[in-house]
Amino acid sequence: MKAAEEFLNPVVRAIPPSGIRRFFDLAAEMKGVISLGVGEPDFVTPWRIREACIYALEKGYTMYTSNLGLKELREEIARYLSQAFRLRYNAEKEILVTVGVSEALDLALRALVAPGDEVLIPEPTYVSYIPCTLFAGGVPVPLPTRMENGFRISAAQVEKAITPKTKVLLLAYPNNPTGAVLNRQELEDIAAVVREHDLVVVSDEIYAQLTYEGEHVSIARLPGMRERTVVLQGFSKAFAMTGWRLGYAAGNEAFIGAMTKIHQYTMLCAPITAQMAAIEALRNGLGEMRQMVRQYNYRRRLVVNAFKELGLPCVEPGGAFYAFPSIRHTGLSAEEFCERLLREERVAVVPGTAFGPSGEGFIRCSYAASVANLTEAFRRMGNFLQRLRKP
Ligand code: PLP
Repeated sequence: MKAAEEFLNPVVRAIPPSGIRRFFDLAAEMKGVISLGVGEPDFVTPWRIREACIYALEKGYTMYTSNLGLKELREEIARYLSQAFRLRYNAEKEILVTVGVSEALDLALRALVAPGDEVLIPEPTYVSYIPCTLFAGGVPVPLPTRMENGFRISAAQVEKAITPKTKVLLLAYPNNPTGAVLNRQELEDIAAVVREHDLVVVSDEIYAQLTYEGEHVSIARLPGMRERTVVLQGFSKAFAMTGWRLGYAAGNEAFIGAMTKIHQYTMLCAPITAQMAAIEALRNGLGEMRQMVRQYNYRRRLVVNAFKELGLPCVEPGGAFYAFPSIRHTGLSAEEFCERLLREERVAVVPGTAFGPSGEGFIRCSYAASVANLTEAFRRMGNFLQRLRKP
């Protein structure tokens, strides 16, 4: 018999384990670690949302829902997208409720990408984009971004990377891991290139609500873009609902129809209890969501100032809950820096290289952590940096 590994799909076999996982495993073995490593709200889901789920269970809501998701939820999503982001979608045909944005991303790529199609992906990139492109049979084409440009991609950069095989531009703003956002003009310039070369955009807007200065602009809102964009949104970050596994995709009928075709044979539907809770989140949970966003904004300023004081250059993040400072001047690689910071000071952050080679020289710190933990983590980081200066 062949070795078990030899039975595996070579595409899956070739994908290395997540660079974040290794640090979690290391941190889990240690005591007294302050983690700024995870991209997860430190808040518990607001009570009214949890209560809606309990009530749904009491009432016996334990069945499958329609493949698209509960009609009531899709109607709430359509209303919310329209009011919050001026995006208009038909609840009957243009919205699909999914098991997190993770599933929506996988479905979008599998529905759109044919073997050999190229997918443009700004880098540093969220860890799932390249593996999911490969699972779909596509070819990921990273577009490296630089601190000097605020980690924002430009229209010229997109245009330069386009080949006859390019099919999809994957946008993710506000960005994980850099916290970068694109303004309307930058999006308009990119949209012009997308239209000219007849591409499709998969726009992961999971952090849209966590935009701290000005309003979040979805590329789907720009002229001529609605029909060539799939917007991915969800409940994990804004409503502190990571464990509920609920997200959604909005797009034209053909895109959503194709995604639903895959979803109905794989996932069937998202959990009904999470869907019932999400209806409450959109109907009555926006106030609590905004309160959490205010907290993140307060912490964001604290973190940016703290990095300034520590002498680590850091682009001010415009969204999400991550800072991505440079540690180049320490002479350590991102991996070495993170491993030593963890072992010597018990602070867990993620090496920028977990998000692609252009992340070398950077670390990702999540500020979805309490002010007390952030303050203590920065005190420890200060000690560490001082020791690096005077060995
Ligand atoms: N997209 C981005 C950019 C993320 O950072 C994450 C989670 O960290 C996800 C998608 C996954 O979200 P979900 O919990 O909705 O699957």
